[in-house]
Order: sequence, then structure tokens, then C-alpha cells
Amino acid sequence: MWCYCGSALMFSDCCQPLLAGINKAATALQLMRSRYSAYCTGNINYIANTYHPSQHSDNAIAEIAAFAKAAHFIALTILPQADHPATGLPNQSDTGQAHKTKTDKNSMNTTQSPSAAAPHISEGTVDYVHFIARFIMQDKLQQLEERSRFVFEQQQWWYLDGMLFPHAVNKINRNDSCPCGSGKKYKVCRPHLMSAQS
Ligand SMILES: [Zn+2]
Ligand SMILES: [Zn+2]
Repeated sequence: MWCYCGSALMFSDCCQPLLAGINKAATALQLMRSRYSAYCTGNINYIANTYHPSQHSDNAIAEIAAFAKAAHFIALTILPQADHPATGLPNQSDTGQAHKTKTDKNSMNTTQSPSAAAPHISEGTVDYVHFIARFIMQDKLQQLEERSRFVFEQQQWWYLDGMLFPHAVNKINRNDSCPCGSGKKYKVCRPHLMSAQS
């Protein structure tokens, strides 16, 4: 299956090794993408363990868990940011759809092997990722736009905090075609109904 993060790579070649603790994110962007995939798969431990220790609290983790359970993420878009070019992956705006088709995955191989190609990163390096994550929650299509701040400490990237940009929330009617792109009407697109009811 394609990776949740919309990289057009297979999950097993993209975020899965990070979520499983086999590899560490080589860049802030990789960490951001993998944390998105963790939200998609309900991997609360990964989200918590990549959250900078200074931000940890029982409340924060409980809120993350509740949000990950209620929100059904359907697409990730990485926005370009001219002032932070060194993010390690192509920086153009790309839309991630769980069901998108990708014709030439070999061309993406240069973005892989995070550990092999990892450049030396100085302790305390800060990087930013600006993104929009679209999700369905409580029968509404919502967009989370954030410019996240990451820091490299103790040989790994951490999510530190982010600046949010408000977006309108759109009600999804039962007979609308589901915004997840399944082609089904919302009222019969099961996963979201389950998350909306929980
Ligand atoms: Zn991924
Ligand atoms: Zn759907």
C-alpha cells in the first residue's frame, strides 16, 4: 500500500520503518511525515515519543490520543517555504491521497535510505515544515494548517511546537461524495462514520 503521508512511496519504504523504530527520521520533513502517518494509524506512542521532552505532559498525550482517535486523516500537503530549503525531500507542494496512483516509483528512490544518506546535523539545529493536513471529524471536513518547528537533539529530530493557521470547517452532508476520495457517498464510507460516532 502507498504511504499515508502522500510521498508516493510504499508505506514499507517510507514511514513504516520509522514508526516501527527501525530507522530514525533524517530530516524534520521526514519526521513530520511520519508523525502524520502515526496519526493515520493511531500510533500514539510514536507521536508521544517524537514530541520534544520539554513539551511532555499527561494532558498533552491524552489530548493527542483523543484527537488521533476522533480525526480521520485523508490527505497531507507540504507547503513550500522559501526560507527553509534544506528539508531533504522535494519541496514542491504535493498532495497526499491514500488512494493516489503513482506511475514511476523508481524515480523516487533518491529520497530513501535516510540513515545511509544522513548528513551531519549539528546539535540544536532547528527546522520548520509548513503543511496542511485534511481530516474528517464529527461529520466535518477540517484542515489543520501548521508551521511546525523541529529541533535536532541527542542525534534525533523532535517536534517542538507549531504555529496554526485557522481554516473554515465544512459540514459534510450524508449524500455528498466522501472527501476521502473513495468515490462512495459519505453516509456509506465506513471508517469516518465510525470515527464520527466514537
Ligand atoms: Zn510516508
Ligand atoms: Zn471516505
